[in-house]
Amino acid sequence: MPPYSTSCASFFGCVDVRDELFKLLPLCSLLALAATNRAYHDAVFCFFRHRIILLVAPFFPHQQMFAFLECLRKVGAVISGSAVLKLLFSWENRLWDAKDLDVYVAYENAIPFLDFLHSCGYSCISMLPSHPYLIGSIRSVVTFCQGARKIDVILSRTSSSIMPIFEFHLTAVMNFISPNFLFSAYPFLTSSKCAIVNPRLFHFGRVKLPTLQALLKYRGHGFQIQSSCESRLVDLQSRPTPHRCGSAIGCSKTHRSTTDRGCLFVHFREFTDEMNDMPVFDEIGWHLGGRRCSLQLGYDVPYVVTK
Ligand SMILES: [Zn+2]
Repeated sequence: MPPYSTSCASFFGCVDVRDELFKLLPLCSLLALAATNRAYHDAVFCFFRHRIILLVAPFFPHQQMFAFLECLRKVGAVISGSAVLKLLFSWENRLWDAKDLDVYVAYENAIPFLDFLHSCGYSCISMLPSHPYLIGSIRSVVTFCQGARKIDVILSRTSSSIMPIFEFHLTAVMNFISPNFLFSAYPFLTSSKCAIVNPRLFHFGRVKLPTLQALLKYRGHGFQIQSSCESRLVDLQSRPTPHRCGSAIGCSKTHRSTTDRGCLFVHFREFTDEMNDMPVFDEIGWHLGGRRCSLQLGYDVPYVVTK
């Protein structure tokens, strides 16, 4: 017996109708649909891949676009920043205008990727020793331009391309994608348009004008911005159960890992079985820390580590 009826098959075979419908679904509903059977998994993957192609299309002509996606996968690089939010909030496309592409890659794997950008006609216009947001695990930021198109390549100091993402100013930006997976560290908060300010900003004295402007940008996009000591309010507002400090996913006191149940990690299967078994990124552990969100006095030191 087929996994879905013929009429359903026809419906999902019509890409334009399917994409219009999928664009209206909250991400959790879309992923729940993908988990029901192989046909829906493939339909959601096609939608996801199509959205990535739409993100990348302004930066590469058609013949280079797939080579770019393959290069990302080969060097273990990921796309993060506004482009991912554009994908997560697909029904708000006009609000999330991703003018630049932010690619994260480990310094030790960067040369093939930078060579690829050169081969596509991009020119390096600057190489800054650090990021404007003063992220400690960033070795440098290399900016490439071709006409009005700009790609920032963020080079991680460590062997993990994704480590800097967990040091950024807001939980709302702790998301990344590759050609065949999607990751969000705070999917519940982010999809509810709530975000906690990373206490690292204050712990390491990194509150500078670009960071404040970034916080305001997210507030302008409708995000409710909370401090670490207010993070329990997210639970109180959204569910009747009491907030469990230190174990609630959205609590700044909770020690988190990229493999824990609070993360959203969707790995679309399209390659050989051998490639499916390979880890797609290093496990990262992190703790937002900061002032305790319970009524207890205290302060927890933030950290981000590779495991
Ligand atoms: Zn708490």
